[in-house]
Amino acid sequence: MNAPDAGVAIIGAGPAGLSLAYHLRDSGIQAILLEQGESAGWSWQRMPEDMMLNTPWCASCLPGSGNWGWKAMEFLSRREFAEYLVEYTSYHRLSLAAGCRVESLAHGVGGAVSCCKLEEGRSAPNG
Ligand SMILES: Cc1cc2nc3c(=O)[nH]c(=O)nc-3n(C[C@H](O)[C@H](O)[C@H](O)COP(=O)(O)OP(=O)(O)OC[C@H]3O[C@@H](n4cnc5c(N)ncnc54)[C@H](O)[C@@H]3O)c2cc1C
Repeated sequence: MNAPDAGVAIIGAGPAGLSLAYHLRDSGIQAILLEQGESAGWSWQRMPEDMMLNTPWCASCLPGSGNWGWKAMEFLSRREFAEYLVEYTSYHRLSLAAGCRVESLAHGVGGAVSCCKLEEGRSAPNG
């Protein structure tokens, strides 16, 4: 499977990848998130069901989250945070290819990392 045609490919749609995609988009740079799991925040989808975050909302939220309604010192459950990461992706219309596990990278013209080898996934929706 070839990498989707985008300016920047971000490996992993966890909090770090989502924040990067948000800031790149804000700067006018097209980016796509390549995520091995079925959705954004996949590592949070699979954490223990009854887990609570040990950081409050003000230290857990991603950039551009002013409208979510959580209070600064509120602690989200694992489930709430996982759902938030999925909602964040669609709210900001971040481009996501789920079910795409990046297996290797290759150098392209000028030494830039320009191509990815992807494992065939279950789906590659844009969200
Ligand atoms: C049990 C536990 C509790 C935690 N509690 C907190 C907390 O309360 N507050 C806090 O701030 N932090 C907490 N953390 C740390 C937390 O994991 C990080 O804050 C945050 O999730 C890191 O985000 P990330 O995007 O760097 O990594 P991750 O959340 O791990 O996201 C990485 C993403 O990349 C994907 N990926 C990985 N390899 C590939 C590949 N080859 N191809 C495609 N996709 C790939 C993964 O599926 C995943 O979705 C906790 C961690 C654990 C394990």
